Amino acid sequence: MRLLVLGSGAGGGVPQWNCRCPQCSRAREERGLPGSQKVFRRTQASIAVAEAGERWILVNASPDLCSQFAQAKELAPPEGSLRGSPLAAVALTDGQLDHTTGLLFLREGTEIRLACTDPVWKSLNSTFPVVSVLRHFLPVERSSYPAEFGGVRIEALPLSGGPAPYEAPSEERGHVVALRLVGQKSGRRLVYAPGLPEISEAFVAFVSGCDALFVDGTFWSEEELTPMSAERQRSIRQSHLPVSGSEGTLAWLAHLPVPEKFYIHVNNTNPILDPEAPQAKQVREAGVRIAYDGMLLSLYPSHS
Ligand SMILES: [Zn+2]
Repeated sequence: MRLLVLGSGAGGGVPQWNCRCPQCSRAREERGLPGSQKVFRRTQASIAVAEAGERWILVNASPDLCSQFAQAKELAPPEGSLRGSPLAAVALTDGQLDHTTGLLFLREGTEIRLACTDPVWKSLNSTFPVVSVLRHFLPVERSSYPAEFGGVRIEALPLSGGPAPYEAPSEERGHVVALRLVGQKSGRRLVYAPGLPEISEAFVAFVSGCDALFVDGTFWSEEELTPMSAERQRSIRQSHLPVSGSEGTLAWLAHLPVPEKFYIHVNNTNPILDPEAPQAKQVREAGVRIAYDGMLLSLYPSHS
């Protein structure tokens, strides 16, 4: 089973277009450097997963989708055919703009197979009618969870997070999920949770026994929230646990017996973007890595 990190930044990416903070400025200075030398620069979070062969599942469709596909040789049209794509399906964790806007850029294809929860499907057909727009270009075939594509079973765990900001507040479950992708041949399991509001008992059970875990690395602490409405701040706090602090994710991850642990969905304000920062050192010392654009992770079959 293989996992390719297409983007590792939070909404807006790094640099964010209207931000001149030190980290965004350093990301801007990386313009023109080869990809391997870009340390700060990040596109918006998205991963692709394949079991065997060349059928890839895209998990979340970021607004940077076109440049992410252009960078990834794994997602190029198959050799020997003029048109086509190894993309088998798209699976969504939620209806946030940085995870769904990219769907619009798949309109040149012949069909989109889309897995998402009922509340997200409803949003994408009403308040943010991406699916209604896409259906003018190609068929969109929807699956609920659990789903299976290209030899990968996708299971979802509803989290406590609310709907995307463009929706009215709602207590309904299923606006945000963590996804577990299980290779049907390899037996490998990975969990993707770019928006983690709490470490519930159910989430602990969901990640138990997985081979790789990608967790919400949006904020180091709540102090990073830039001036915005109190309502928006509250909603962000309820959607993303910070990395640091006794209630943060790092204290939990440090003792979690999962072989491969990563932060993804890192916001431009998070000091862990700077490898020299003490916060980044603290993450490394806890045995957790920080995912970067273009990172490829291979999980070999458990019986080999
Ligand atoms: Zn910034």
